[in-house]
Amino acid sequence: MNVADSQRLASSLEKLGYAHSEIIEEADVIVLNTCMVRQSAEDKALGRLSSLKPVKTKNPDIILGLMGCMVGYKDNEEIRKKLPYVDVFAPPSDPKPIIDYILAKEYIGDRADEALSAAPSVWDPASLTLPKNDRNRAVSAFVPIVYGCSHACAYCIIPYKRGRERSRDPQEIIAHIESLASQGISEVTLLGQIVDRYGLDNPEYPTLAGLLRRIHAIEGIRRIRFLTSHPNWMTDELLETVRDLPKVMRHIEVPAQSGNDAVLKAMRRGYTDRAYRDLIARIRETIPGVSIGTDIIVGFPGETEAQFEDTANQLRDLKLDVVHLARYSPRTGTLSERTMTDDVSEAEKWRRFRIIEALQEKIAADHHAKRLGETIEVLFEEKKRGRWVGRSENMDLVYVESDENLTGRYLPVKIEWTGPWTMIGTIADGLGE
Ligand code: SF4
Repeated sequence: MNVADSQRLASSLEKLGYAHSEIIEEADVIVLNTCMVRQSAEDKALGRLSSLKPVKTKNPDIILGLMGCMVGYKDNEEIRKKLPYVDVFAPPSDPKPIIDYILAKEYIGDRADEALSAAPSVWDPASLTLPKNDRNRAVSAFVPIVYGCSHACAYCIIPYKRGRERSRDPQEIIAHIESLASQGISEVTLLGQIVDRYGLDNPEYPTLAGLLRRIHAIEGIRRIRFLTSHPNWMTDELLETVRDLPKVMRHIEVPAQSGNDAVLKAMRRGYTDRAYRDLIARIRETIPGVSIGTDIIVGFPGETEAQFEDTANQLRDLKLDVVHLARYSPRTGTLSERTMTDDVSEAEKWRRFRIIEALQEKIAADHHAKRLGETIEVLFEEKKRGRWVGRSENMDLVYVESDENLTGRYLPVKIEWTGPWTMIGTIADGLGE
């Protein structure tokens, strides 16, 4: 979501006549887009902000902006007082205060004409361009479709920072994706904290399945992904749509968070281990060849060794393809921070983390080994350390060697080596496409 928000801001700034710079001291505008999902992300943002303070002191004309979860969606007097050297604050997914601040500044000077003529179109989704830095190399884009979340899991800061759930207008989403397609983007990932709840807050909007059908008809779009799902909101209609629409990739991200019912209840997730296992069976039955990703938090307050073992056993049994793993970290203001004791030691959280990590390494290695000798389609993104890298439909990371520029190309790759995190292959049919 933050990548999408930053791109939207960069694109709007370019419309006002600004250009990207790698050198902080040369910048006219610096905006820090912040995340608070874990303590480490917050610490990093604060560290970065304090390193920007001398830059602002040396050149007070620089516009320094702070955006995202550290600001939050409500007026945040506290952060304004704490960071007096920051000129402008913008909530997550809404860079408008930054643009308005710049437009209102008299010293916009020689960019004034450009800025004023661009102003009406700055927010038009059909005219959103990819930031120059991403053009020619971007093949894939994130498209937010649901902002905020109304679920309020006990550990999660997002509803407090991104506000209640709001689905984006479907016409606006279509215009945005058509615009991306006209700029060469062929893969889009639809984003929402609970993406499968798309449209449920507005009777005039389609469901996620209906929206997928509309996006499927857009020329130039070849791959559609969506994340993140919630176990309680994955309907049969949605699963059948993934199965039936060839452009919708067979990869589902549906977090379990824990495999123990008491922990799930304390987390306020709203389902049980049994329900999660049944859902995974239903997904696999409906969509042949699907890959599934999960999120797991270890060391939630009060999590016993036996409860942790339930989570490890769930993963052992279900053998999910991808695990996004986190150690519990209390976020100020959340239910768990206010009412529970963070009583699992850091050392113990790390121990549990490593157990799941090792388990996942083995599961992922086994999944990949089954693909040895297969030919799969890969969308190539960029060259890294001398090899081209891209993703399969199932999100597998695939490397090949080639002297050609493969960016944005869909090519069949014969898999010749597999490991837990990557696969290596050769292009099967020459450079056909
Ligand atoms: S559903 Fe996701 S975003 Fe919403 S509160 Fe729970 S963890 Fe946070």
